[in-house]
Amino acid sequence: MPPSSENTSTNSLLPVVDFLKIPEDGEPYLEGSRCAQCGATFLGERSACSSCGARDQLESIRLADQGELYVYSIVHRSFPGVEVPYVSAIVDLEGGGTVKGNLINVEPEPEQIKMGMPVELVFKKAPRKDAEGNEYLTYYFQPKS
Ligand SMILES: [Zn+2]
Repeated sequence: MPPSSENTSTNSLLPVVDFLKIPEDGEPYLEGSRCAQCGATFLGERSACSSCGARDQLESIRLADQGELYVYSIVHRSFPGVEVPYVSAIVDLEGGGTVKGNLINVEPEPEQIKMGMPVELVFKKAPRKDAEGNEYLTYYFQPKS
């Protein structure tokens, strides 16, 4: 298989969350809302700004695909079938928006993970299908190379 097959096959996948957008002719991205009144940026769609209270002033924007690790925790216990330990992280995206996601491609050791370290988004097929056999595209963070 050519190396690009992972990208071109995303068209048949469903987004795992509604703020993950999969354009027909482009790379997946995370969608956010920006307040025209105060400039605050949020993940996903909103109708009111929780920073200044403005209503119907929010426009959809494409969030950055990189940011800084804000906080994380190493998860040692989870649901059956979920591999542990893994790193659950909260990332402040460049230009605004705060996103929770798993940090991959790093040892789940506190010495390896620094607050404020630069990270980037990666999109991957989710490891499991749903009951109807649908496949999903999900997102992770990884240390920026
Ligand atoms: Zn606002």
